[in-house]
Parts: sequence; C-alpha cells; structure tokens
Amino acid sequence: MIQLVRGFKDILPPETSVWQYIENTAKTHFENFGFREMRPPVLEQAALFQRSIGEHTDIVEKEMYTFAGSRDTLLTLRPEATASVVRAYIQHKLYAADPVAKFYTIGPMFRKERPQKGRYRQFQQINAEVFGVDAPYLDAQLIFMLMTFFARLSVSGLQVHLNSLGCPQCRPAFKESLSHMLSAQSDKLCADCLRRLEKNPLRVLDCKVPGCRKVVAEAPSMLDYLCRSCQVHFDAVKSALEGMAVPYEIDPWLVRGLDYYTRTAFEIQTAELGAQNAVAGGGRYDNLVEMLGGPSQPAIGFAVGLDRLADLVMAKFPPAEPGPEVFFLPMGEAAMEMTAHWASLLADAGVRTEVDFSGRSLKALMRRADRMGAQNVLMIGDQEIADRAVVLRNMKTRDQVQVPLDALVENVKAHLEKPNVA
Ligand code: AMP
Repeated sequence: MIQLVRGFKDILPPETSVWQYIENTAKTHFENFGFREMRPPVLEQAALFQRSIGEHTDIVEKEMYTFAGSRDTLLTLRPEATASVVRAYIQHKLYAADPVAKFYTIGPMFRKERPQKGRYRQFQQINAEVFGVDAPYLDAQLIFMLMTFFARLSVSGLQVHLNSLGCPQCRPAFKESLSHMLSAQSDKLCADCLRRLEKNPLRVLDCKVPGCRKVVAEAPSMLDYLCRSCQVHFDAVKSALEGMAVPYEIDPWLVRGLDYYTRTAFEIQTAELGAQNAVAGGGRYDNLVEMLGGPSQPAIGFAVGLDRLADLVMAKFPPAEPGPEVFFLPMGEAAMEMTAHWASLLADAGVRTEVDFSGRSLKALMRRADRMGAQNVLMIGDQEIADRAVVLRNMKTRDQVQVPLDALVENVKAHLEKPNVA
C-alpha cells in the first residue's frame, strides 16, 4: 500500500470542521480590520525566496523544495507567503492607486524540516501583510488583531514576545559586536552556529542547542544598539500595546529565521505545545518591497501556524460535527427511489440530510442513525406511501409527528423550524 510522504499529513473529518471554524473566524476577523484575501500560487521562482528570505538562512540553505523548471529556471514550493505577496504587490502595481494595502492569505507552505510533533513538511499558515504604513501604531494594532483572533477562538495562555531588530543603519554595529563576542566563545558553539557565525551571526541567537544558549545568554542585545528613530518607533509600539492592554514580554533573543525583518519582530508563544511553542510570528520588513524591485514602501506582516493553532483549539474543544437533521430510513425499493428524490430536495432546501440505501433492517438503520448523531429520523415504507403520510421522530425526545407526504420538503422544514424542535 502506498503511504503518505513523511512529514506530510492528511487532515480528516471531523478535524476538518475545526480548520473550517478557524479559517472562517480568521476571514471575518481580518476583514473587520480592513484586510482582503489574496491567493498567490504555491510555486514561485526559487530566486524570489533566495533574495527575500536570505541565502544564509536555514530555510534557503536546506529546507526548500526546489526543482528544475523549463529553460534553466529553478522553481520552489513556497516556504512562506510574504515573498509571494510582495511579488504580487509589485508585479500588479497594487501600490499605484493607493500604496496602503492590506492582504491576508490562507494556504500550505513547504519546508524540508526534520518532522516531529507540530513540525511538518507541508503546513498551513494564515498570513497578513500591510504595505505603505510605517506608523508604529499599526504594529501594535496587528498584534492586537492577532491576540483578539486567538481570544475569539477561546485559545488562552499565549504570550507576546517582542523585539526590535533595528534597521540597516544601526544593525551593522550590533552584528559586529555580536560576532566579536561569539568568536571569542566559538569553542562552545555547535557546528551549525560556527557556520552561522561566519555568514549570519544573528541566527546564533535563536539556536536551541543548550551550549549555544549559554553563550547567547551573555550576548549583547540589539535593543542597546537601536538608532534614535528605531528607538522612538519601538517605544511607540510598546506604549500603543500598553494602551490597548496587550501584555508583552521583551525578548532580545527573538530574531526570527528570515533576513528581511527590520524593527518590530514578534512571536506568539504557548507553553502548551512542547518544543514547537510558536503559534505565530511576524514583523516589519520595511526594505523588502524595494529590494525586490518595487517602490520604497514600508511593510509589516505575520504568519499564524494553523496546524499548531488547530491543536490548541482541539485540546479545548474536541471536534464535534453536527449529525444530520433528518435521517431517512427507506424500507423497500419503491421507498428508496422516492426517498432519493425527497432527501435530495430537502438537502437542497438547506436541511442537513442523510439517507440509508443499504436495504438493511429497520433496527440496523436506526443504530446507524443514532451513531451518526441524527436529530430526527423519517421512516418510509409501503404503508407510509399508501397512507400518504410519514412519521418524523425526534431521536432525543422520542416525540413523533405525522407529516403529510405531499409537499414533504415544506412540511418537514416547517416542522424543524418550530421552536423546541431539535
Ligand atoms: P515562520 O514563517 O517560520 O515565522 O512561522 C510562522 C508560524 O508558522 C510558526 O509560528 C508556526 O506556528 C508555523 N510553522 C512554521 N514552520 C512550521 C512547520 N514546519 N510545521 C508546522 N508549523 C510551522
């Protein structure tokens, strides 16, 4: 038997109902904040990610699904959404009429990471991106939007981790001082960090290896190197968050795994998921639009990991699908044929409907209706056809009503819509 590819997963019902609930909640919530949905493709030119995420990041160095396209192009299954949204913003000149634009996307991302609980090679994200606004109040508003989204889903116990990564003016001095300090301790760093030290020392700050963590505990903080305008921006983000009563923790080691971030960086973490504790992360990327060939426009965004969020929602509310409102139990061929027609009309009229065509005994059918959580059953046999009336039985209260066969759909609907009818 051919099995799933390692690191990939099927999302099966009833779990899918939780995903739909999360996605629908996100759509309503984000649209209330002025976001509109964009659906970029999952395949892009490899160069887009190499240039935006950065050559010396884990994602680009070892995690991308890249293969040859036609005519010497390399194609990549997107490892994240921001680069695609920026490409679309530039390519379709979405800035022309109004540079301020807010988009959200929902869909799969692909990274060849080592699979483990909460870490997959195909995972889903909801992303939100805003272009054309550099005001720090927007940063705070995005974090507020994210936290109230989680609150709508009744997910609690989340912490906002906040940092500023500075800008091209102030970051180089920090990088240099960090490199200097790390080089002096290089004998204590893991092999990966030795490589990072050469190419991208900031990445050492979020290494999870205990030896590296010890070294990092002594490292300088970007927050001590912020230039005046980055400091003013960061202070305004913090005070806006306080004004909105959003608690946060300053986390000077929060660097995020992508090179394009500037200034505000944040992560939403939980203690409930073990090692994979980040549910969402984001930050500013004020130079990326220009770097990818667009106009100079500031931007900020975040990504929510849906797989982890679904785990959190399910831990609180195990998935429950509503059973059919009406379960038809046809007895005999003539009844089956009529029922196929009526049940379809009833479903088309907006009632959750199920029919059992197996021809098994009434007892067996009742058992199945019960197992599926049917709210009502409707038995039709030769007698009911002769009488031109059927009995609709409420599975919970055991109340029964006679429903005339003529205009069955209207009659059943009218009965279901009566108060106190399940
Ligand atoms: P990132 O794009 O790395 O900032 O990730 C944003 C969010 O996506 C994280 O906070 C996770 O919730 C989720 N995420 C990232 N990588 C994975 C993965 N391999 N498997 C499942 N979720 C992931």
